[in-house]
Amino acid sequence: MTTDIKVKEEVKSNFPIFDTLQSSEHEQVVICSDPDTGLKAIIAIHDTTLGPALGGTRMWQYESEQAALRDVLRLSRGMTYKAAISGLNLGGGKAVIIGDSRTDKTEALFRSFGRFVDGLGGRYITAEDVGMTVREMEWIYSETKYVTGIPKTLGGSGDPSPVTAYGVYMGVKACAKKAYGSDSLGGKKIALQGAGNVASYFARHAAGEGAKLYLCDIYDEKANALAEEVGAEVVAPEAIYGLDVDIYTPCALGGVINDETLEQLSCDIIAGGANNVLDEEDRHGQLLLDKGIIYAPDYVINAGGLINISSELEGYDEKRALQKAGNIYNTITDILSYSDEHGIPAHKASNALAEKRIKTIGDIKNTYSSKAGISGRLGEVYKRFQD
Ligand code: NAD
Repeated sequence: MTTDIKVKEEVKSNFPIFDTLQSSEHEQVVICSDPDTGLKAIIAIHDTTLGPALGGTRMWQYESEQAALRDVLRLSRGMTYKAAISGLNLGGGKAVIIGDSRTDKTEALFRSFGRFVDGLGGRYITAEDVGMTVREMEWIYSETKYVTGIPKTLGGSGDPSPVTAYGVYMGVKACAKKAYGSDSLGGKKIALQGAGNVASYFARHAAGEGAKLYLCDIYDEKANALAEEVGAEVVAPEAIYGLDVDIYTPCALGGVINDETLEQLSCDIIAGGANNVLDEEDRHGQLLLDKGIIYAPDYVINAGGLINISSELEGYDEKRALQKAGNIYNTITDILSYSDEHGIPAHKASNALAEKRIKTIGDIKNTYSSKAGISGRLGEVYKRFQD
């Protein structure tokens, strides 16, 4: 056991925990420590107005504990917005495990983490994120049922890429409708960055509709194989931004909308599956608006992955997940209209609409319903009363 003196010293360092959580509007942060297994993890629950907080667990060697805390607070907040704008009845959460994902993984550590997740009784539901693989998720799953994104063999949804890519495809179509008055991609020239999982499924949809694709990957063999399959033209990775195309679809890495690439891009639409596309969210989001380029916010258009794993909660059905991901078309349409009406960048319009949904759905919960009563704290008592 730690001595009193040591605890007091830590407290004296005066890290403003409650101020930090209040300004980022977090509900709960759980510090998980298990010296026997070496587990050091933080679970952040941002907002559960719409439902349980869902978000992946990331394993990362952070340079400091504060850096880990900052990351988990930032990521969990992002999940609240992503779930809300996607029409899901879920809140935002995230977990980080501090450690080296190449050397520090043991069964005991992840099972210990699973027990912490279980202790939250479903307020937080986890999934796979950076630094994690199916093997660790299965270890966590052996200690708690509050896990999504588990393999198909265990009754889960498996690889989310087909559903993510379908959502991206529908989001691109919504942007095309806005730009050209028709959502057909037939004859449209698309620069596709990446030839990985999401890009490949997207390319099949777009090429199937008659789009002319130009694609790249840092691995020539991946680019060549996909190009041959869908009848696309391969370009060098650094040439992707300067192409004379209608649509740019980033499906590889983040930070690709920056000062340098903005000078080269001449497309009407930027819409793709990659995360964190805007290098500096506010500045580059505004620059896209100023240049008249239609932008589909990344966390909205790539929400098919979240939609897919969340479908596990109601019994996974791929058709249903695809149908829900198809709704990204309407969501992007609404965001672009709101952006127009208010003269604000699309990412801000999206945040505003997400906040609006949380507020309005939160408010209806003020009215008593038997559903709320039965699933609430006194649910069992209430039910017995009725019997
Ligand atoms: P992936 O690893 O299968 O594909 C990424 C591809 O990009 C790889 O083939 C890689 O070689 C290539 N690449 C890397 N750097 C490149 C560069 N500079 N230029 C061109 N190509 C480059 O990954 P994925 O699952 O297809 O995910 C793609 C993006 O979508 C990522 O940003 C990911 O975070 C995001 N995303 C994926 C999902 C999903 O369901 N898989 C869900 C939401 C968001």
